[in-house]
Amino acid sequence: MTALDLFDHDLPGLERVFERWGEKRFRARQVMNWLYKKGVTRFEEMTDLSAALRERLGREATAALPRIAAEQTSRDGTVKLLLELADGERVETVLMPDDGRVTQCVSTQVGCAMGCAFCRTGTLGLRRHLTAGEIVAQVVVGQARMGPDRRITNVVFMGMGEPLHNFDNVVRAFRILSSDHGLNITRRRLTVSTAGLADRIRRLPPEMLGSLAVSLNATTDEVRDRIMPVNRRFPIQELLEALRESPLPPRDRYTVEYVLLGGVNDSPDDARRLVKLLSHVRCKVNLIAYNPHGDSPFERPRPEAVEAFRKILLDKNFTATLRKSRGEDILAACGQLKAEEGGTLGG
Ligand code: SF4
Repeated sequence: MTALDLFDHDLPGLERVFERWGEKRFRARQVMNWLYKKGVTRFEEMTDLSAALRERLGREATAALPRIAAEQTSRDGTVKLLLELADGERVETVLMPDDGRVTQCVSTQVGCAMGCAFCRTGTLGLRRHLTAGEIVAQVVVGQARMGPDRRITNVVFMGMGEPLHNFDNVVRAFRILSSDHGLNITRRRLTVSTAGLADRIRRLPPEMLGSLAVSLNATTDEVRDRIMPVNRRFPIQELLEALRESPLPPRDRYTVEYVLLGGVNDSPDDARRLVKLLSHVRCKVNLIAYNPHGDSPFERPRPEAVEAFRKILLDKNFTATLRKSRGEDILAACGQLKAEEGGTLGG
């Protein structure tokens, strides 16, 4: 029998389990309180549960956290953890402290099937999806690593993997992270990225739409087909249509991510096309200057090109921020995660 992973359940799910066991539903709240508020994962320490329930949990359930196989700290304080899952697979998670906030970037798959040309994870192919419990447990480990004085305030689903390809598990993990009974991180501080799976965007629960960040990265299908093969299935217009037609709550906005690749998608013409494409999409734009890595065919954009691009968006009244790149020296920056053995991360 596979053990029941307590991190894999939201409150209603855990209530159903306890009801099946002939226990009171409120036991679910008590257990979640231990796991998420007190950071306790050993059943014998959950002292407000009956001895019989603790014993049964010990026999039939787990609240196992992945092992930290390696850890690296960047000059800017970014911490990258290489986590080993129960079956020996490895994923990375990145912690980024900044002023009062700590943002954690979590992985949703081992590897990724999307094959974006600018991304190291894409070179791995997909090995498997993570369970909701494995996604949530990354944050529990991250919180334990930061200690009680530094709460994880923001979580971005932007590590290894295409979150919407692992749809059901990501939706459940999102609910556990945002629930009062879970980690209680408000929706506004959660971000789920996608390379543009338009069919899955249409299935997202409305409360997740304002947390959606779409990696657009090109303004013509010709360029996007080349750098993001997913575009051959869901071309730009189809993707934007899915955004426009989804029931985004009135005060929410999508985030459109745009990685500027030197000489590929960073011209003023691109910026003007982007303005046109997004004119009927309620969104803000996040620009990211590409970080080249060893085996990459792309170049960093010139700073003047980045500024000129941004100015064209600002002049058309878009909110356009330039995201600061973090942890470049330890390959923790966007598109650089690859869960390396030894080499980059070791000791
Ligand atoms: S950028 Fe994201 S979606 Fe694309 S290959 Fe990398 S991990 Fe996958």
